[in-house]
Amino acid sequence: MSLQAVNVTKFYGQQKALDDLSFQVSQGEVVALLGPNGAGKSTMMKIIACYLPQSAGQVRVCGFDVAEDPRSVKKRVGYLPENNPLYNDMYVKEYLMFAAGVNRLGRKSRSRVDEMIELTGLKAEYKKTIGTLSKGYRQRVGLAQALIHDPEVLILDEPTSGLDPNQLAEIRELIRETGKLKTVILSTHIMQEVEAVCNRVMIIHQGRIIADAPTSEVRMLNKASRVIRAEFDKEVNLEKLKGIDGVIDVSKEPGSVYRIFVGAAGDLRPEIFRFAVDNGLVLLSLEQQDQSLEEIFRELTV
Ligand code: ADP
Ligand code: MG
Repeated sequence: MSLQAVNVTKFYGQQKALDDLSFQVSQGEVVALLGPNGAGKSTMMKIIACYLPQSAGQVRVCGFDVAEDPRSVKKRVGYLPENNPLYNDMYVKEYLMFAAGVNRLGRKSRSRVDEMIELTGLKAEYKKTIGTLSKGYRQRVGLAQALIHDPEVLILDEPTSGLDPNQLAEIRELIRETGKLKTVILSTHIMQEVEAVCNRVMIIHQGRIIADAPTSEVRMLNKASRVIRAEFDKEVNLEKLKGIDGVIDVSKEPGSVYRIFVGAAGDLRPEIFRFAVDNGLVLLSLEQQDQSLEEIFRELTV
């Protein structure tokens, strides 16, 4: 397992930015964290990259705990922060040598930097200072920096924001290529990006995961108008839950927690309660997300 997050919560002062997130990512997956601004995407990514401590819960990267063993985690994680902050006055190669130094690559630094310049298509530009590069080339430098220590897991926070259509296509291609060899978690607020690059999507909204599905199913989720989160005392057959009238789809979270996607029908909570009773289950919690999925998707597709 490349990544495990268990009941992760993050407060900034009084404000809750992440609310009890749990998910797992297997090796080789390319996963999108999709959500509107303020959803909590960057916060989750900073926690995975050991840049920010969580308030509660656990995160493990390749089996190493971010709080207990950040050094082992950082060795295995490449991180491209939001807005890709770079030193404008540094030359591309100089900056990558610096990044190699930070990652203690020692004698391997020079050859590794050359490899990264080749891989990310920076050959024509590496003699320039970063400040003179186009946004697309800056992103390549950011990716080269994130990949320099050959991490198993790559965390890319809105890697294509602000790029023009050509640059966008090139960076997406680079991410797809990288994704063949590494586990990638990428954040975006654009649905089309998910479909272009990722094989799985987690939709995050107000600090919660409200959907987790293969990309091929996203369009179907879009038809759902509400999502209900139900926790039972034991595991439930997914097909049985999907059989409830008005249910479009069901996804499962760790534990016996289910996200039930509901079509246009009215309040389905009484049906779910009845389902539990009929099947000898105890319903431990039942919540309906207040914003409709339709509205969220509208925010994500503009
Ligand atoms: P996203 O990346 O999905 O846009 P963020 O993780 O940046 O979302 O933010 C989640 C929430 O936490 C937002 O409401 C944001 O205003 C708040 N937040 C983020 N960083 C800070 C901070 N350093 N201090 C206080 N609040 C923050
Ligand atoms: Mg962000």
